[in-house]
Parts: sequence; C-alpha cells; structure tokens
Amino acid sequence: MSELFDFDLFVIGAGSGGVRAARMAASKGNRVAIAEASALGGTCVNLGCIPKKLFVYASQFPELFATSQGYGWNLGLSTTFDWNRLRDNKTAEIQRLNRIYQRLLDTSGATVLQGKAGIEAPQQVAVNGTTYSAKTILIATGGWPYIPEFPGSDLAITSNDMFYLEQLPKTAIIVGGGYIAVEFAGILNGLGVETHLIYRGSQLLKAFDSEVVSWVHQAMLDKGVTIHLETEVTRIDKHDNGLKVTLGNNQVITSDIALYATGRKANTTGLGLENTAIQLNNNGSIAVDSHFKTAEPSIYALGDVIDRVQLTPVAIREAMHLIEHLYGETSHTISYQNIPTAVFSQPELATVGLTEQQAEQQFSAIQVYQSDFKPLLNTLGNSADRIFIKLIVDKHSDRVVGCHMVGDHASEIIQGVAIAIKAGATKADFDATIGIHPSTAEELVTLV
Ligand code: FAD
Repeated sequence: MSELFDFDLFVIGAGSGGVRAARMAASKGNRVAIAEASALGGTCVNLGCIPKKLFVYASQFPELFATSQGYGWNLGLSTTFDWNRLRDNKTAEIQRLNRIYQRLLDTSGATVLQGKAGIEAPQQVAVNGTTYSAKTILIATGGWPYIPEFPGSDLAITSNDMFYLEQLPKTAIIVGGGYIAVEFAGILNGLGVETHLIYRGSQLLKAFDSEVVSWVHQAMLDKGVTIHLETEVTRIDKHDNGLKVTLGNNQVITSDIALYATGRKANTTGLGLENTAIQLNNNGSIAVDSHFKTAEPSIYALGDVIDRVQLTPVAIREAMHLIEHLYGETSHTISYQNIPTAVFSQPELATVGLTEQQAEQQFSAIQVYQSDFKPLLNTLGNSADRIFIKLIVDKHSDRVVGCHMVGDHASEIIQGVAIAIKAGATKADFDATIGIHPSTAEELVTLV
C-alpha cells in the first residue's frame, strides 16, 4: 500500500470485469475506488446477458404451451401476453441485482463513486469534479452498440433500447448476423412479432461451425423468422406511426422498429486517453500486453474495452488474472483456448473448441462424429425441433478438440463437455463414460 496516493487501485467501470477486480483487490487489503457512470453491474446485468435471457424465457412459452397439449393439458380459451408486465418485472429484477452489486462492493471495502470518470494524468482520475490520485488505474469501461451512418440511421434503435420498449412491436426488422441479432430475432418471433432478420453476409453467426449454423438457420425459418442474407438496408424513413425500410434490392418493408445489432465499439469516449500514452488497436479498442498493461505503465485495461473475447466470464477471468498478477503470488497469463460459448437463439446453440473447418486446418486428420434426433419431449408434443450434436476428434491423439450442439439445454450440456475438453479428454474417455438415461446428453457418450 502506498500512502502517497488516495487509492492503490482506481477502477473505471463497475461491470463484469471492474467489479470483480475491485472486490478482489480490496479483499487483498488494497485501498480501492470504483467509479460507475450508470448502473452497477455493467452491460451484462443491465443491458445484456441477464435481461436478454429473461426475454428468451418469455418467448419460449408459446411452444411449450403447444407441446403441453400432447401431454394431456387443455389450455384456456385465450392466452394473452402482457409486454409491460414482462418489461417491468425484468426491470425490477435488474434493480434487485444492482442492489446486490452495491452490497458486494460495500462489504469488500471498495469505495463506490457514482459518476463518469475521466483520466487527467497517468495516476489521476476525476469524478464529479473531484480529482483522485491512484497508484494504478484499471479501465474496464466495456463497449457500446454502434450504428453505421446512412440515410435515416437515427431512426434505428440498439439492443439497449430493446429492454425498455414502450410497447411490443407488431413487425420488427433486425439488422446484423451476430449472436445479438440472432437472439433478438428469436425473442421477437417467439413473442409473436413478424420478424425480419437482415444481414449483408452469406451466413449468420460466421464465427461458428457452418454446419451447426445451418441447423439454426433452418430452424429459425421453420419457426417463422424471415431471413434476408446478402442484403443491406439503404435507407429508413418515417411511415405513419412506424418505419419504411428500404433494402439494397429495392424491396421496402414497413416495420414498427429497426434494431441495429451490427457491432459494438470500445467505450472510450470522454475517458481522457489523450492525457496518457495509451495506444489503441485499429478498431478503437485499448491495446494491452499479456498482463493487461497498456502503453502507460500505471494503467491497465480489460474486458470488452480491449476486445479479445466479449463475454462476461472472460472479463471476470481477466480481472482475476490481473489482480493475482498485481497483488498476488502467481503471474501466469490467461488462456483464451476452449472458451465455451452459447447463442441463446431458438433453437439454442452452444459450442466449445474448434469448428470442423478450424480442426481441418490444424490437424492432419480429424474424425467427425455427429447425430441428430428428436428429443423425447417432442415425441408427444408437436414440435418439429430436433437435436444436433457434433464431436470433432484429432485422429492422431484421439483427443476431442471440438463439440457443438443445437437444441434445448445446449448451453447447460456444453458447459460440462468444456471441462472434459479442457482436461484433454479423448474420444475413448467419452466412450468409457456411462450415460444418463433418458437424457439428451447421453448421446455424447454413444457417438459412433
Ligand atoms: P461492461 O459490463 O460493459 O461494464 C462497463 C461499465 O463501465 C458500464 O457499466 C459503463 O456504464 C461503465 N463506464 C463506461 N465508461 C465509464 C466512465 N468513463 N466512467 C465510469 N463508468 C464508465 N456475455 C455473455 O457472456 N453471455 C451472454 O449471454 C451475453 N449476452 C449479451 C447480450 C447483449 C445484448 C450484450 C450487449 C452483451 C452480451 N454479453 C454476453 C456480453 C457481456 O455483457 C460483456 O462481455 C460484459 O458485460 C463485458 O464486461 P466489461 O466489464 O468489460 O464491461
């Protein structure tokens, strides 16, 4: 601890990474401040993972209602959906989580400062007109949705707005091909909104295994989403109470909203980076070394603002590594290999390890095992959804190097597979494992 400074560590941004770093550093006896310009918990809690997944749950009920009839249930005459109730219950839950974050930070001993922080010098941060000195500064300011400029782009909205819509649209246009676009397409379609997904590329979710993506793509079509690939929006105009959206092929779609989920940019506006030697990458994210140090020796950065892997558990892991490096006994670097990830599309997609295309490039010979089948739930229900599972094995070592799944509970199942893959399990290990019957996951240990 250094009494020369007001704080040992000053964290800017109380999101996934910043909160974990502040709590850990404080628990090690450091004097820590954390500044937050908006709500505690950051994107994940307030405008990302949590409200998004609550909306996914809400949108899945119509299919469950339909399935229930095959199981003997008779539904009431009218089933209605109340958007305001969902939105407001979600907001109440988020506010509960904000309070938990406040309590966690308070009990850790960190000083929470509500306000936008700006760096004035390499060891000075100002919040609400007060300047604080700190031995070390950590930037964990996350990202912000980005809408490209074109005629009418100011009429488009972002994922941030989706969580607070005054009413549920009847028709929606979603632009983008990444996971946020695909997830919102599933949410709105499930809630009964006529949904158009527009993407300029030739394949949605381009970072994922292409066979797995085509399963999701087809299922989305089957469920009623209209997907326009290799198509761009050229302009948006106001039309009655809604919008008139013109596509590159001159097709015009009238819609209540146009959601742009076309990417996120590092949140560095007004941060005072010009008062430091910090360097940026080409996309505006902050450049750091393997221990998250920026070009300014007293300033570190992690999470979405460094744009390595934009996921909450990654930001948290980066924070844990940094605090161990700064104040702990170990100083190893973080591994970004085999990070499991899910798209809460409908159907759900989850994956860990290499895609088939990546494995082909990395190994001289691979073996692909796959299976698709009707889940037991759907045998009495009327859903056409099937499960698709794909295991990729390096033929030489027999190690499982990738696992991909589409279908119910994919994220829950792949989390367990990720442990096996991280531990270096071989296909023989999978085969030697006894399945749980009847389950979807048992298929993983019987693939031939
Ligand atoms: P953030 O959580 O974004 O926190 C940054 C904080 O810094 C914010 O609270 C911001 O207000 C604050 N801040 C910014 N500038 C200043 C300043 N100058 N002064 C003070 N405070 C400042 N990830 C998953 O793992 N699973 C998911 O299912 C998932 N779904 C997502 C869905 C959506 C719609 C979005 C947008 C993201 C989703 N993510 C998901 C990504 C996840 O939310 C981020 O990877 C994660 O929040 C990054 O954490 P962070 O600490 O880097 O930044």
